[in-house]
Amino acid sequence: MPLKVVFFDRSALDAYYCAPMEDTLIPDYVDARKIFAQQALLKGTIPVSRLSRFCDLVAATQGDVQVTMQFSLDDGNRRIIEGTLDTQAQVLCQRCLEPMQIPLHDEFRLAVVESESKSESLPKSLDPWICEDIKLVLADVIEEQLILCMPIVSYHENNCIETLSFAASENKQDDTAKAANGAGKPNPFDILKTLKDQD
Ligand SMILES: [Zn+2]
Repeated sequence: MPLKVVFFDRSALDAYYCAPMEDTLIPDYVDARKIFAQQALLKGTIPVSRLSRFCDLVAATQGDVQVTMQFSLDDGNRRIIEGTLDTQAQVLCQRCLEPMQIPLHDEFRLAVVESESKSESLPKSLDPWICEDIKLVLADVIEEQLILCMPIVSYHENNCIETLSFAASENKQDDTAKAANGAGKPNPFDILKTLKDQD
């Protein structure tokens, strides 16, 4: 079956090309004096377990966040980070309290400034990231952006509670039917019928 062979070849190739990104860990921090002038592009992952504030918001802390970060200086010599984040967050459905997975995706554009006062002069298209140190902690940047794109509450797409209670009542009816058909046991509906006939 040649079609199937082509399909497998292609998926094997995709997996191969994705592999370097999957394997590269995003560093804890970078030198804020150098990385923008270097126009560095970072691609890699950061384990969810390393983002403690984000971990407080999710039901499970396994897995990674896929990250890309492009560092540059803009025309105004501002230090810019353009990035994307992707992960699958484990949360609890607020209707049935069962775990569910939600995809999180974010694209962000930040200007790294030394102080709060400098952030006020930024154009609206840029969100400020205040970094007073020469150490720019990337995990903090990633964590903050992830928290910002988390939905406040999450629900299963289907009406999960109704599905649950419907399944429960179906079981109950089954039990009633079984009891009614049980050998020697009187059918409660027969008794009702008898009472009705007597009226
Ligand atoms: Zn649910």
